[in-house]
Amino acid sequence: QEAEAAKPGLLGRLFGGRTADKTVVRRALDDAMLESIEDLLITADMGVETAMRVSANLAEGRMGKKLSTAELKSLLASEVTRIMEPVARPMPLYAKRPQVVLVVGVNGSGKTTTIGKLASQFKAAGKTVVIAAGDTFRAAAVEQLQVWGERAGVPVLTAPEGSDPASLAFDAMTKAEEDGADLLMIDTAGRLQNRQDLMEELAKIVRVIRKKDPEAPHNTLLVLDATTGQNALSQVEIFQKIADVSGLVMTKLDGTAKGGVLVALADRFGLPIHAIGLGEQIDDLAPFDPEEFARALTG
Ligand code: GDP
Repeated sequence: QEAEAAKPGLLGRLFGGRTADKTVVRRALDDAMLESIEDLLITADMGVETAMRVSANLAEGRMGKKLSTAELKSLLASEVTRIMEPVARPMPLYAKRPQVVLVVGVNGSGKTTTIGKLASQFKAAGKTVVIAAGDTFRAAAVEQLQVWGERAGVPVLTAPEGSDPASLAFDAMTKAEEDGADLLMIDTAGRLQNRQDLMEELAKIVRVIRKKDPEAPHNTLLVLDATTGQNALSQVEIFQKIADVSGLVMTKLDGTAKGGVLVALADRFGLPIHAIGLGEQIDDLAPFDPEEFARALTG
């Protein structure tokens, strides 16, 4: 018995599931079908290069074979899973105190929210956490972070509006050291409009915290918004130039965006995906599960 999805996903809509008498439709895998699959993957934000590679892998040794939609879906999901498995890794924790986690990303991507969620998870795991509100130019961002700090039960260090984020980072290092905190999470500004300023600001933060600990930051998390689709690719490129990105968090995967761009990112950059954001509440952060992700994407 073949299990077809109750509601047709992308593939179902394209190829049809069953005929009126409920017979499972099988179609031979040919060039036209492959091209449709490629188009579909591109529509799902996977990018041309990755979409072509995924469909080529899927086609290998299968041209001319008759496949049902369910079989196609499951083959496609396996191909996606295979690309995603190596990058599905939680943020590494080190014995180093404080472990410094620099959080970067464009404004609105979900940095503040993700810091709050992560702080709450770390705290639940018995870690002591300190947060530094490094986007000192946006009063709203600082207030927002303070709200998250309260929710998570974690202190948030702030500095007067417009003051130097690097000096806040330095003070935060001192405070985290004094407190014997396990983790220091530093929020940063994400004004891409002035890339030069941003680059200098982040470089200075890194320089200053390295005075305290030459190995810091131990993690540099780039937060990406799933709803911006292909923009995530250029954001990774930009932030990799500015900061030494060590891992990704993709937010807003609870909406209609299925995050197909993550496949392109994994394919191109191979950066670990530490977690995904699934809502605006404190518990809405989950580890990245490649199989679940692939199933949702190929739905
Ligand atoms: P920042 O400017 O990068 O610090 O972004 P914020 O953390 O302030 O988030 C911007 C908006 O996105 C806020 O309204 C958040 O509630 C929302 N947001 C963040 N993460 C998620 C998520 O995983 N799912 C949803 N639905 N909304 C999110």
